[in-house]
Amino acid sequence: MNTKNILSIVLFIGLTFTTNSQSTKDKEILAKIRTEGFSNSQAMNMLEELSDVYGQRLTGSREYLAAANWISNKMKASGLQNVQFENYCNNCRGWSMKSFNVEMTSPNFMHINAYPLSMAKSTNGIVEGEVVHIKSFRNMIALRKQYSGKLKGKIILIGSEPIRKKLTGDVLKRYTKEELKTMEDKLAPKNKQTPLPDLFKGWETSDVYDQEFLKFVESQGALAVLKSRSMLLGILHPDGTYYYQNGSLKPLPYFTIMAEHFGRLTRMIKKGVTPKIRLNLETEFYNEQKNNVNIIGELSGTDPKLKYETILIGAHFDSWHSGTGATDNGANSVVLVEALRILKQIGYKPKRTVKMGLWGGEEQAFLGSAAYAKKHFGKLNEKPNRASKKISVYLNLDNGAGAIRGLYLQKNEFARPVFNKIFSSISNLSEGALTIENTLSTDHETFDHYNIPSFQFIQDDLTYGNVTHHTQLDVVEYVPEEDIMKNAVILAWTIYTLSENDKMVPRKVKK
Ligand SMILES: [Zn+2]
Repeated sequence: MNTKNILSIVLFIGLTFTTNSQSTKDKEILAKIRTEGFSNSQAMNMLEELSDVYGQRLTGSREYLAAANWISNKMKASGLQNVQFENYCNNCRGWSMKSFNVEMTSPNFMHINAYPLSMAKSTNGIVEGEVVHIKSFRNMIALRKQYSGKLKGKIILIGSEPIRKKLTGDVLKRYTKEELKTMEDKLAPKNKQTPLPDLFKGWETSDVYDQEFLKFVESQGALAVLKSRSMLLGILHPDGTYYYQNGSLKPLPYFTIMAEHFGRLTRMIKKGVTPKIRLNLETEFYNEQKNNVNIIGELSGTDPKLKYETILIGAHFDSWHSGTGATDNGANSVVLVEALRILKQIGYKPKRTVKMGLWGGEEQAFLGSAAYAKKHFGKLNEKPNRASKKISVYLNLDNGAGAIRGLYLQKNEFARPVFNKIFSSISNLSEGALTIENTLSTDHETFDHYNIPSFQFIQDDLTYGNVTHHTQLDVVEYVPEEDIMKNAVILAWTIYTLSENDKMVPRKVKK
C-alpha cells in the first residue's frame, strides 16, 4: 500500500466522520425545530390577532401601517435583530371605508350583498336611481353614441350576467400524489416569465382598463356602477382597481355585488322590469406616505466569512380590503415570523444572515419588493450590483394558507439537489415535489430579475382559488392551524440548511 492510498483512507475516514457528526447535529436541530414548532406554536395566535384585530391591510392605508407596527413588535419580541421599516412608495395614496349600503327598493325590497371597490369616491349621502344595464365597455365609441344624455341619476350595472358555475366537486383541494408527480415530471417550464420591466410597463395600461368608461358615465351624471364576477355562494370579489397613486382617477361610487344578485337584476331587466336601487358609500382619501413601508428584520449571521451572505425570505403583507387578508397573505407573513422565532428560540445561531421582508404593494404592482430590490441591488435596467451576488437565495410564500408540498424551481435546474436534500429529511412533513415550472404573479419574480435564485413554495390550494383569494371570505376560518404550523417548521428547517451549507444556492444563469 503506498502512501497515496493511506492518505485516501485517512481522508475517507475523516470525511465519513464529518458527515456523521454533521448529520447528528442536523438531526438534533430538526428535533428541536419540530418540538418548538408543533408544541409551542404561536402561528395561529398571531394570525388571529393580525387578521381579526387589525383587519384589512390595503396598500397605502392606515390599517396597513397599524398592522405593520404590530408585526414589527412581534418580530422584535421574537428576538429578530435590525427590525425596521423601509419606505417603498412616495406617491401611494391612502383610502379607507367608513360606511356603505346597497339595496333594491323596487319592484320589491332586497338587500344587495355588495362591497365597494378600492379608491371609489363617496356618494353624497343616500342616493336612489333606476338601473341601466350596460353589457360591455369594449367599444367606447358605440357606447358613447348609445348612452350620451341617458344616464343622469342612473345606477349602472356593468357586464353580462355572470356564468352560472356548476356546483360540483370538492370545495377544498389538496394536491394528490399523482398531481405532484406530474408536476415533478415536467421536463421544462410551460409558463413563460415576462421580463420584469415589460411586466411593469404592461400593467400601466392594463390597470386603467375601465378608466374611460368610469369617466364617461360619471360625466353623464350616473350615480354609481355595480359589477360582478362569476363566483357563486355569495362570494364577492372586489379587487382590481389600481388607482393607487396620488393624482390617479377617483372612480365614482363603484361596487362589486354578488353574482346571484347581479343575475337577478339582469334577468328582471330582460323581462322588461326596471329595478330601482338605493345606496350610500362613505370613503376617505388621505396622503400619508408613512403608511407605505416594507417591514424588514433579521437573524444576523455569526460565521466570520459567511455572515456577509444572506438567506432572504419574503411574503407580501398588504391585502385587499373586503376580507382580513388571512389567506392572502396574513398566514404566510406569520409563518415567516414564526419560522425565525423557532430558530431563535432553540438557540440556533445562523452562519449566514437570515433576512426577512414583509412587502407592501404586492397587489398593485410588486411595489414593495421592487423598491427594496432597486434600493439594495441596483436599477431594474442595469446589471445587478455586487450586493445582489451575496444573496444566496430568495424564498417567497404567497400561495394561500395550505401546507407546503414542494417548490417551484423557476427554471433553475442547478438548485434541484439543494432542495432535494432539504426535503428528504422531512419526508413525513412534505412530499417535497420539485417542479422546474415557473410560477408567476408574486414577489419572487422581482428577485429573479436580479439573478438571485428565487423560489415560491408549492402549497395546497385548500379553498384559495375558489373562495378566499381577494374575496370578502379571506378570513381566519379558512386557515387550518396544522398547515401553518407545518409550514413554519418546514421553512425553519429550510433556512437552517441553507444557512449551514458550504455553498450558496447555485444561480441559473451566470451573469
Ligand atoms: Zn398574495
